[in-house]
Parts: sequence; C-alpha cells; structure tokens
Amino acid sequence: MSDYDPQTIERKWQRRWADRRAFEVTEDPSRPKFYCLVMFAYPSGHAHVGHVRNYMIGDVVTRMKRMQGFNVLHPFGWDAFGMPAENAAIQHGTHPETWTRDNIAHMKGQLQRLGISYAWEREFATCDREYYRWNQWLFLKMYERDLAYRKRSTVNWCPSCQTVLANEQVVDGGCWRCGSEVRERELEQWFLRITNYADELLAKTEDLGEWPSKVLTMQRNWIGRSEGAAVRFPIVAAGCSTGSTDTEIEIFTTRIDTIYGATFVLLAPEHPFVEGFAADSSNPDEFRERVRRFRSLDRTTRLTGQLEKEGFDTGHRVVNPFTGEAVPVWIANFVLADYGTGAIMAVPAHDQRDFEFARKYELPIRVVIQPRGVPSLDGKTLAAASVEPGDVVDSGEFTGLPSTEAITRMISVAEERGFGAGTVQFRLKDWGISRQRYWGTPIPIIYCDTCGTRPVPYDQLPVDLPKVDEFSGRGDSPLAQVPDFVKTICPSCGRGARRETDTMDTFVDSSWYFYRYCDPRNDDEPFAPATVRYWGPIDFYSGGVEHAILHLIYSRFFCKVLRDLGLVEHDEPFTRLLTQGMVLCNGSVMSKSKGNVVDPDDMTSTVGADALRLYEMFVAPPEKEIEWTDAGLEGSARFLGRVWRLVDSLCAVLADRTVGSPVVEALNNEERALRRKTHDTIRRVSTDLYPRVHLNTVVSGLMELVNEVYGFCERARLGPFGPTDGASAESPRPNTVAVLKETIEALLLMLSPFTPHLAEELWEMLGNRDGVETAGWPSFNPDVAMAEELVLPVQVNGKVRARLTVAVETPDFELRRLALDDPHVRMYTSGNKIDRVVIVPGKLVSVVAR
Ligand SMILES: [Zn+2]
Ligand SMILES: [Zn+2]
Repeated sequence: MSDYDPQTIERKWQRRWADRRAFEVTEDPSRPKFYCLVMFAYPSGHAHVGHVRNYMIGDVVTRMKRMQGFNVLHPFGWDAFGMPAENAAIQHGTHPETWTRDNIAHMKGQLQRLGISYAWEREFATCDREYYRWNQWLFLKMYERDLAYRKRSTVNWCPSCQTVLANEQVVDGGCWRCGSEVRERELEQWFLRITNYADELLAKTEDLGEWPSKVLTMQRNWIGRSEGAAVRFPIVAAGCSTGSTDTEIEIFTTRIDTIYGATFVLLAPEHPFVEGFAADSSNPDEFRERVRRFRSLDRTTRLTGQLEKEGFDTGHRVVNPFTGEAVPVWIANFVLADYGTGAIMAVPAHDQRDFEFARKYELPIRVVIQPRGVPSLDGKTLAAASVEPGDVVDSGEFTGLPSTEAITRMISVAEERGFGAGTVQFRLKDWGISRQRYWGTPIPIIYCDTCGTRPVPYDQLPVDLPKVDEFSGRGDSPLAQVPDFVKTICPSCGRGARRETDTMDTFVDSSWYFYRYCDPRNDDEPFAPATVRYWGPIDFYSGGVEHAILHLIYSRFFCKVLRDLGLVEHDEPFTRLLTQGMVLCNGSVMSKSKGNVVDPDDMTSTVGADALRLYEMFVAPPEKEIEWTDAGLEGSARFLGRVWRLVDSLCAVLADRTVGSPVVEALNNEERALRRKTHDTIRRVSTDLYPRVHLNTVVSGLMELVNEVYGFCERARLGPFGPTDGASAESPRPNTVAVLKETIEALLLMLSPFTPHLAEELWEMLGNRDGVETAGWPSFNPDVAMAEELVLPVQVNGKVRARLTVAVETPDFELRRLALDDPHVRMYTSGNKIDRVVIVPGKLVSVVAR
C-alpha cells in the first residue's frame, strides 16, 4: 500500500508529457480535427484560481476529445501588448518588455504546474516582432483595399490613462480600465472600416446556434441596425446669408410617419454646416463659443440624453418637403454627429427628448399620431411625448393610415418626388485603432511632404518598435520622442519623411491570433492557408463574458476580411462559444487590491493540481460563478484520496493478466448492478462532458460511481475491505474481478480529463504501459446501461401495502431500504419494530413488523 502523494505524481507526469511532446500536433487529414481554444492571457503578473478556471475547462474538453481519437489543437499564448505594462514602466521604471516577459515566464510556470495540456511549441506573445509584423502586413492589406483610412475625428480621451479610447472602451462615461471620466479631443486617427461588414456581421449571428444567446443579443444590439429614411430639407435662402453655400440639410429618421409633426430641425454641434451658420450669424464668436461648450460634453451622457437639454436657434430655416412649411434650425447639445446624418427632424409630440426641448424653448408641439384606445391627444396638454405607433392624423394625404403603412408610403413618395429615400443606419461605427501609446504595434505608414501618406513597403516589415527607456505618461505618443524612429526615407521619392508614431489598439492583436496558432513559425505569411483549412474554424472557444462584444465582433470582422483576402475559407471563426463564470471570494471578484486572491501555486503545493482542477470543475456549471471555499477544495482532495486507496488496494487483484471480460450469463445481482451503473455512467458522462459541457454533473456522476464501487467491495470483502494481514482469503469470483476491473478502468479513463496526473499514475499501477490516451474514451453497451425494470409488491404483515418499480438487478440491501423508506409501508410500520424483511427474488418483499 502507498499514500497518495500528488506533488511527486504531478511532477513525474508533467515531465513525462513534456519529454514525449505529448500535446504537440500536426495536420493529419486521416483523422478528424478538433480546435479547442481558450482566450489567451494578458500577462498581468500572477494568474489566480479565477483566471485558470477557463484553462481547466478547455483542458477537460481537449483531453476527452483526444481520447475519442480527435487530432486536437490546444494552443496557448499571450496578449502581451497593452497599457498595464506601460503604466508599470511609468510608475516603477521597469521596461514594458521586461515586465511583460517576466510575467509570461511566471504565468507559464503556473499553467504547467496545473498540467494543462497545451501545445507549448506553438506559444507566442503578440509583442514578438515575428507576430506583430503580420498585424502590420494585415493593416497594409486593408489599406490597399480602403478598409483602413485616416481621418480627423473627435476621440474619447482618458485623462488618467493619457490615451484615446474606442467608443466601446467608454463605460457609463468612464474609462473601461480605470473609470476616469472621459473627455473629448480632436486627432488624426486611423480607422478600420468594420461598417462595410455590418450587414454580414448581423446576418451571420443567425448561424451561431452554439453561442450563448445573451452574447448574440449583445452583438446584435451593438451593431444596432435600424431602418428608416433620409429626407432632405431645403435651406431657405436668408437675405443676410454670406458664408454657407449648402442648400439642404439631410435628416435621418426611423419615424417618417411623424414628419408632419416636425416643427423644427436639430443639428449636432459637430455638424459640418455649423461653421457656415456661425459665420452667417450676427455674433460669430459667441455662436462658436456655445458650440464649443456643447462639444466638450461627455459623449455618453449625450448619447443617453441624460443631461440638461440645451440649444439655440441658428437663425436659419429649412422647408419640410412634406408640408411645404418653413421650420427653424437649432443646434442642440444632445444630438450626436455620428448617429444618422448628425441632423434630426424634431417631432416633440412623439419623441421625449424633442418634447423636453420644445417645452423648454416654447417651440410648437403638434400631434400627428393617435394611438388606438387612447383619448384624442392634444399638443398643448401633453404631459410627455406619445411615442407609440398608431394612426396618422393631420398629415395631408397620409391621414388615417396606420404608422407602419404610412412609413412605407411616405418613403415611396419621398423617393418618387426626389427628396428622400429609405435607408438603413447602424449603431456600429468604424473602428478607431490609433493609440498614443508605446507598447503596441507601430502603424506602418510614412508621411512625406511631397508624396503624402505612403504605406511602408512590404519588404520593409516589420517596423520594429524601438527601445524607449523613459516613460513620462504624457499625452503624446512616446514614439514621437524617438528621432531615429520618426526620421525615415519616403519609399516613393527617397526624400526625408517621418513615420506614423501611433500604435495599434491591442484588440487588433487578438483579432486573428487564433489563426497564427495554426502556423506560428511562418516567416513568409501570417499563416499558410492550408493549415487554417485543416484546423479551422475553432470548434470550441471559451473565455470571459466581458469579451462578448469587442473581441468577438472584431475577430468576426477580421475573419471576413481574411476570407475576402483569400486566406481563410470559412465565414465565422468560432463555431461554439462558452462564457465561463468567475470565481468569487467572500462574494467579490478576486483582485490584488481586495487582497482576496488565491494563487494556484499555493494549492498545487498542498492538495495538488488535480484536487484544484477537480474542485473548480465540480463546484458549479462552467457558465456559473463559483464562491471559493477551502472546505470544498478539501472535499475534492479527500475524494481523490479515496480513489487512490480504492485502486491501490485492488491493484494486485486487477493487474493480474488473466482477468478476462465479465461473463454475462454468470453475473450475480451485485455484479450486474455494478456493471449497469458503470455503463450508465459512461453513457451519461460521454454527452455531459461534450457536447453538453456540464462538467459538474460529470464529476458528481463519477463520485457516485466511486461510492458504488466502495459498497460493492465492502460486500465482496475486497480491496479496501479485504483482509490486510495476508490471512486466508478466499479468492474472489472471476466475474466479480472482471466487473470490478471494467468499472475501475472506465472510472480512471473518465476521471483523466479532470485529474490527469492521478489517473495516469493509477492507470500505470494497473499494469497498463501506454497512457490513458492510447486506451481511448470508454464505450458503453446501451443494453447493459439500461435498467431492466420490474414491479415488486411489498407486504407488511402479509398484506400488500405498496409496489416498488426497480431495476431487475437491484441488490437485496437496496430493496430492503427502498421498501422500508416507502411512505405507504412506513404508514403501516411506524411505531413498530421491524422484525425482519424477507425478499423473494423477482417476486416479493415481505416486511414483518411488531
Ligand atoms: Zn483610463
Ligand atoms: Zn515622397
């Protein structure tokens, strides 16, 4: 007998797997492939038990798929560019690269000590020049196709991180990373034209049936398609007009049915006509100052409309083409430039923001929609806007039509008469990727005074990130302060020129890394298309729900661009998505600042990696949160100790090479029952593990099976219950040993994805020379798994009081328990002493009570 010593076993198997290159794979067309991926890690320092939960989920799926004969790609790498590295440099003077590489080394060790079966030979970090050169290459390909472009634009600025944020990185008006209030700034920025794919990104969500529906909903809302109409309102030529030569304002509306109620038009402060109107005004400086104040307001509060609505009259008027009426043009602080056309028709009776604005400035409110079943509305007495559709009223030729029909008719009238058209708007905006930071991919562009904007020639890639030693954290791009980097030669005319000094948003790095894993050492192209044709798309992708929008939508966009470049053949990168729950400690998310972080290394050095793995998979379904408890972890460790003792004590009997298969005709009830339990467990576990990924029920099923085996051994006086002093032991029935062996082998194979070290060690102790993977995933016989049932009458003192429906092979001790627990039986036995229980096999249970 030996003791379970997780540390020794775990070191032994980790070393052996590494020596055998056990998890390295190559394309093999003769075998089915499975690409199992977890979102790669940001090397922030130390992984805690919450981070590694996701890696465990991926590993369990991977190991099962391997045993089922799949050629499984299970890679890992590092999302290594980004702000924390640079902030560490600013605060502590550590170079971002040093900080990043040190963290990677530490975290890699943590994952290896957990026995996660990664193909480490494919590992890379996005800060490797061999990787980011392909970011640059892809950027240039997009530039060639007009999918990357530069424009001056208002950007979100985080004063604390000192950087531009994408709209998606602004959460409730604050920086997604540090929470500081976000300001606006004007800068020249590079954009990727994701909006070219808006329709497809939306439509293809219908094909993603194996994604969580909440993620699909978030994506659809983010894309935000709305159908509406663009209508042009001609500007009334004012006598004093000098500056503006524009003749009409185009508005966008989703409710053209309300257009007869449009009593004024509102422009965003950023609207291109604003400057012309200012020049026309009697006091241009004051006009501009008011506009400037509106523009400096926080974007999110403008977006949600939760701000004091303010505006002023431009002095200009436009004609509503439907009514022929001239209405005033105002500028309002809550109108956004990037929604629709940056100009809206204000219908105060039927839009709440317009309503509040009209009340404040005493502009007319005109009802043109009458909802059904509501008393007739009056603009003068309305308490709030009536936003429901209804029947159109006071709207000329359209009066009497329901809203939906009015929309269709009005659009065709606008198209016929040439002042408008039906159109579709998206909330999704082009992706601004310029960052004024150091630790990222340099954008491969050169500016020449003669030739303008020139792409860096492909044969000059990569544009290396230069070494910078001082980080001030100021707003300018750190690269602008490296003269050797900035100064370059124009590739077109050969004169002196300067480089772009911004770096790319790190979401670019993570938008295609999963393809690079297929061919990570390729120096000629981002990846050979044939490798992705074999491995792609990703069969199972797992990661945090915080990436439900940005990372996943950008990756889907890159997939489509790569497809159109002829590099990949599929339309969607991730067939199946799982978003795992977090691990909480005392009810809150683990974080260094809260001091509630549990380090997996502390667990591996005490209870062992296997116990930690089992605990994290057992305690809750993968999608749900876990509340960390030491007691739960200890429970898992105890269970593994129990498995160890069971197999260790049976080794001598089971490792005997003469043990054959069970002889079905000769099985007794006990043996038949255990066999049924075993096959039934394999049946359930095989689908619960994958595709269902109900990993917690798999573990509880295996725990149940272990209990059954213990009971079986106790009754057969075997294994942990066998004679310990070497005294005369009757040799057990061959069928008993055969059934036990079948069960123990299946148990170890099914446990192995969760606790691979323990399973391998015990498997070897049973005399198996090759690992569990060679043995393959256990199969079950559906006939054996199925319980053959019969109905047994239960008598109490000679009278039938109940009937039990039980499996044929239910052992006597179990029949006795079921009979005595039966509520009807208890009614007649309560208060009495049970004298005896007689079981007539297959016929009757008889209880004698006094
Ligand atoms: Zn910030
Ligand atoms: Zn030039």
